[in-house]
Amino acid sequence: MRNKIGNRSFIFLAILFMNFTTFAGENVRYANVYWRNYVYLRDLAGYYGMQYSYKGDQTVLFSDYSRLIFTIDKKHCYINDIKVDLLYPSIKYKSYRCISSIDFLKTVDPIMRHWALNKHALKTIMIDPGHGGKDTGALGAKIREKDFTLELSQKLSYLLSRAGYKVYLTRNSDRFIELKDRPVLARQIGADIFISLHANKAAAKAVSGVECFCMTPVGAASTHSRRPGSKTYSGNNNCVNNVALTYWIQRALVAGTKAVDRGLKHARFMVLKEASCPAVLIETGFLSNPAEEKRLGTEWYQWQLAKGIADGILCYHYQLKRRK
Ligand SMILES: [Zn+2]
Repeated sequence: MRNKIGNRSFIFLAILFMNFTTFAGENVRYANVYWRNYVYLRDLAGYYGMQYSYKGDQTVLFSDYSRLIFTIDKKHCYINDIKVDLLYPSIKYKSYRCISSIDFLKTVDPIMRHWALNKHALKTIMIDPGHGGKDTGALGAKIREKDFTLELSQKLSYLLSRAGYKVYLTRNSDRFIELKDRPVLARQIGADIFISLHANKAAAKAVSGVECFCMTPVGAASTHSRRPGSKTYSGNNNCVNNVALTYWIQRALVAGTKAVDRGLKHARFMVLKEASCPAVLIETGFLSNPAEEKRLGTEWYQWQLAKGIADGILCYHYQLKRRK
C-alpha cells in the first residue's frame, strides 16, 4: 500500500471501501486498503471483551485472562506471550491500528475462541517421525535427525496411548518413506490429527528453540517466503483447526521445555499440504546448536518434549470439547 499507490488515492480508496460488519453482536469495522480487508484492533478488543491500549508502534488488547500484542508493520504478534506469525503485517491507517481480516479469521480467532473451531472427533493420532532410511535429515555432531525423530515419536506414542488415544506411527523403524505417502498413511488409518516431528539446522550455531508450522491459508505467503500461493490443497480444508492445534502445541512445548519460542509459523510443506485432517509440523530444536544438540540427545529432554507435545494435544482436545 505504501509503494505503488499514491497516499491521496490510498486514503480515498480506504474511505470508499470502509465498511462495517457484525460479529457476535459487536461492530467490527473493516477498511479495504489496497484491495485487502483490514479489521480495526480497537473493535476486536470490544469483540473479545478486552481492554485496548497503545504506546508507540505497539497495540495491546488485554483482559484478566489474555493479552494480545501487535506492532505496526510487523508480520507477527504475541498471543499470551507466544509468538504467532501473521499472514500480513499489521498496519496503521490514519489513527486506526488494524490487522488483515484473513489474520483475524484464520490466525487470531481460532486461537482465541473455541467457537471458531470446526468440531471433529479426536481418537486416532498419526505421529510422523521425520525422514528415515536413506534420508538422514539434519546432521548434528553426534545425532542424526532420523534417529532422534523416531525416539521422540516412540515416547510421544507412549504418552498419548496412556492418555487413551489410538496412536499410529508412519514408521516404527529406520525406513525411508516418501513425503507424499505420509499423509496417505494417515488417511488410511482414519487419523483425526497428524503430528510430524523434526529437528532443525541453521548456518548460525547460536540459533536455538522450538517452532511449529501449520499450513499456509490460500492467497497468503508462508513465513519464510514472499510468494503468495493461490492453489488450494486438501490441507487448506482445516485452516482454523490447523492453527489452533499448532498454537496449543507451541505454547505447551515452550512452557514444558523453557526453550526459545521461535513461534507459530506457516508453510506449505508436503505433509501439511496433503493432510486430510488437522496437521502440524514440529521443529523441536537445532542440531546445529551444540548445547541444544546435547539436550536433544538426552532421555530426560526427549521426555520433556514428548510431554509438551502431548499436553498441547490435550489442550487442543479440550478446546474441541468446549465447542460442543
Ligand atoms: Zn526434518
